Amino acid sequence: MKAMVLRGPGPQLELVERPTPSPGPEQVLIRVRACAVCRTDLHVVDRDLPDVPTPIIPGHEIVGEVISAGSDTDFQPGDRVGVPWLGHTCGRCDYCAGGQENLCGQARFTGYQIDGGFAEQTLADHRYCFRIDPGYSDVEAAPLLCAGLIGYRSLVMAGEARRLGIYGFGAAAHIVAQVAVWQNRKIYAFTRAGDTGAQEFARDLGAVWAGSSEEAPPSELDAAIIFAPVGDLVPRALRAVRRGGVVVCGGIHMSDIPSFPYSILWGERIVRSVANLTRRDAREFLALAPKIPVRTHTVPYPLDRANEALEDLRHGRLSGAAVLVMD
Ligand SMILES: [Zn+2]
Ligand SMILES: [Zn+2]
Repeated sequence: MKAMVLRGPGPQLELVERPTPSPGPEQVLIRVRACAVCRTDLHVVDRDLPDVPTPIIPGHEIVGEVISAGSDTDFQPGDRVGVPWLGHTCGRCDYCAGGQENLCGQARFTGYQIDGGFAEQTLADHRYCFRIDPGYSDVEAAPLLCAGLIGYRSLVMAGEARRLGIYGFGAAAHIVAQVAVWQNRKIYAFTRAGDTGAQEFARDLGAVWAGSSEEAPPSELDAAIIFAPVGDLVPRALRAVRRGGVVVCGGIHMSDIPSFPYSILWGERIVRSVANLTRRDAREFLALAPKIPVRTHTVPYPLDRANEALEDLRHGRLSGAAVLVMD
């Protein structure tokens, strides 16, 4: 099978030929049809995340077809499955027992510690695979697996907020905005200064206001979600939310947050992060998305152009989500 592999210091991936792996009793072998490209893949190839093992195949928004299934799995050849970031948990620690398996200290993640979907085939533990609604094509479904799931978890963490700010209008934001509008929330979209394309995209998806992250919104926000990996946005978002409001940091990595006066946090404002996902998030969101229905905007790339997809994401040249599409 062909795979795009991180071998050297990065950030370039190399196209290599690998033997097809065979599944263990609890694994499925998947023919990858589509794998979306996430900002976290950039944090892997850039080594922003600690202890990236090499060689590793990135990619954790996988949609594909089961080719063969281990004896102890719930799947059969021909089943369509999605594979997200969460690839393994211990199942025994206090976090796992308490509904917070996303925080398990033994958790392992697809495309980071487990070979992922930037490949023609991949293995996955069947307990962390999900069926995909037939209303979605493979390409359209792929961004639901992380941009959708992490976006959804971030939205839940924002609470009941009616007026919701979103900082960074990329793949996650374009999905969250659709869910939030369906929930009768008002979306205020913040982009890089001058990114009129992203602002227009946000308005098309129902945002009541779109502007630069350097601007104040026209009304006070109940909550804000920050998807851009930019620490400067935390004090800006705190200044935009009302007393008692929450600022949710949805990314896995962020540049340092500058110091800020206590007065913008005071008034019981909250800053919190969102880490990973639980399988419950996946079940909830993958059931909800087709009801709305969430439609994803995708930009396709062939597997061997994964490096281009990553660079386009890095430089904000995408509207929606980049997706690697296998023949
Ligand atoms: Zn655990
Ligand atoms: Zn991701």
